[in-house]
Amino acid sequence: MLQNRDTLDAWDRDHFFHPSTAMGAHARGESPNRIVTGGEGVYIVDRDGRRSLDAFAGLYCVNVGYGRQEIAEAIAEQARELAYYHAYAGHGSEASITLARMIIERAPAPMSHVYFGLSGSDANETNIKLVWYANNILGRPEKKKIISRWRGYHGSGVMTGSLTGLELFHKAFDLPRAPILHTEAPYWFRRDDASLDEEAFASRCAERLEALIEAEGADTIAAFIGEPILGTGGIVPPPRTYWQKIQAVLKKHDVWLIADEVVTGFGRLGTMFGSQHYGLEPDLMTIAKGLTSAYAPLSGTIVSEKLWKVLEQGSDQLGPIGHGWTYSAHPLCAAAGVANLQLIDRLGLVENAATVGAYFRKALSDALSGHPIVGEVRGDGLLAAVEFVREKAPRTFFDPALKVGPKVAAATLARGVIARAMPQGDILGFAPPLCLTRAEADSIVEATRGAVEEVARGL
Ligand code: PMP
Repeated sequence: MLQNRDTLDAWDRDHFFHPSTAMGAHARGESPNRIVTGGEGVYIVDRDGRRSLDAFAGLYCVNVGYGRQEIAEAIAEQARELAYYHAYAGHGSEASITLARMIIERAPAPMSHVYFGLSGSDANETNIKLVWYANNILGRPEKKKIISRWRGYHGSGVMTGSLTGLELFHKAFDLPRAPILHTEAPYWFRRDDASLDEEAFASRCAERLEALIEAEGADTIAAFIGEPILGTGGIVPPPRTYWQKIQAVLKKHDVWLIADEVVTGFGRLGTMFGSQHYGLEPDLMTIAKGLTSAYAPLSGTIVSEKLWKVLEQGSDQLGPIGHGWTYSAHPLCAAAGVANLQLIDRLGLVENAATVGAYFRKALSDALSGHPIVGEVRGDGLLAAVEFVREKAPRTFFDPALKVGPKVAAATLARGVIARAMPQGDILGFAPPLCLTRAEADSIVEATRGAVEEVARGL
């Protein structure tokens, strides 16, 4: 380390504006000041030499695990050869073209082109602009509103933060902004009518969506965006028939479907994409995170053949599309993406996510479902959550001021395992690297069981 500990801590406090952090508390030393120095497989190491099992893969992004030399080498080699050239006006690098091809080979048909960005947020900005552009070209300039779900997460920008349906991301930012609307989350566990079974609840979600579209006028609704499985909003798998019912409504009213696969892309659910897992047929797909396993920042918008034809028609009329980032298809990031996808294939990580994911979720459920403060253990593939309740029947939740979720996350961390307290509700989330072994899954379950028992005793 170049600086001594006290200097670095002072610089951190005085100059580093951390994202998603309580700034005052951090400056007063009340929140962790953890400086991460290394990682290997599913573990990270900090400057104090503490080794923790990262059961959230960073921010559900380090799909291949830490310390993969193949990816580091690919980035280094690309940097030596050509660190950067832009992708405007038909330019490109071998890495970015190869990566586009590799993504389309893996994506559900009929997707055809990939537009590269740097973050999930900017890719969703691209999505909004592309549906607006397409609807203008199609001669329906009024059809512009985008429907998202409460508890959806789609980014932190002005428009993408508006798509996001979580209070924390709206409050004091004057979001959401028009023309973004929200509809019901497919969150059966928290349904407002306890008499609905999953099937009936899924039908009601579709009916509410349709009622919203009709109330606004279908000729004003451009697109619907959703994560195949709710992520940051609570890690909630949809009821079995949810997507089928939602898609029927969208088709009927000629509304584009955007599948936000930032978390679910590249193996998280034990299939390459969540769309394949739940039977979505999107017009646009958002990818990021697992595309490079976060070895370099890269995102993408995957465009369907149908939408692509409209975009091409538009540029024949209007000239070059007025949408580009300096770093679109950055060669270093694309090289990381190519090496990452090769590694996912070579190590069979999609398959591993399916098998170890099923093992992990069963072990978590066996260990915790019976606990008095555990309301539900749920998930799919290598994505899981434990939701805490004050009473199981009738179901009541804890006062958020008690911070039950954050306390369990802290107690889990004290046992050497990183899980994430999700931002809305007392929910502990898990999204470990896809290379997780059964023994590592057992360690996560053991740490979580101990943490839940400790926190429950203190309530
Ligand atoms: N979409 C989803 C589903 C996400 O989970 C996230 C980030 N957690 C984003 C978009 C935004 O990605 P980024 O933070 O890279 O902008």
